[in-house]
Amino acid sequence: MDLKSLIRDIPDFPKPGILFRDITTLLRDPDGLHYAIDSLAEKCTAAGLNASYVVGIESRGFIIGAALAYKLRAGFIPVRKPGKLPFQVYSVEYELEYGMDRLEMHQDALQAGSRVLIVDDLIATGGTASATAKLVQQIGCELMGFGFIIELQDLQGRKRLPPDVPVVTLINY
Ligand code: AMP
Repeated sequence: MDLKSLIRDIPDFPKPGILFRDITTLLRDPDGLHYAIDSLAEKCTAAGLNASYVVGIESRGFIIGAALAYKLRAGFIPVRKPGKLPFQVYSVEYELEYGMDRLEMHQDALQAGSRVLIVDDLIATGGTASATAKLVQQIGCELMGFGFIIELQDLQGRKRLPPDVPVVTLINY
């Protein structure tokens, strides 16, 4: 299936110069969604990423990550923007193009040794995924891999991720 044909390109969103890769058109397509999740799950399994937990990054990472966790029979853990999670959190700061941002995860969500797969819809500069990796690795979890529907290869986000951790993607631009 040609998944790329189900991605909508929106120029200059959310600001001038950004070509936004809109996955809502893929999500609304029954066969496309089914194929995307099955393919991501198959690739993760083929790469030996037998994770017990999928960590999904707010907010599109929740959609992909929860479906993938169901398919892999793994638990799902949300990593959220500040102030959204109700229990005690660990947090990590990371750099944006302008300024800093923060991500949070419940302190009791993972334990040392938990096998974790980090999932988002798209990797661009890799800042968000690498911050999430820090959060997970600080706890002493075993980071099995990363999964993304889309990779923007020119931005070389992979280089910011921990070395020797497998990265699974479906669509490259
Ligand atoms: P980054 O931290 O630069 O890898 O950015 C990743 C996050 O920003 C992901 O959660 C994406 O959903 C979002 N993002 C970044 N660039 C784009 C883009 N061109 N189109 C759609 N989403 C994007």
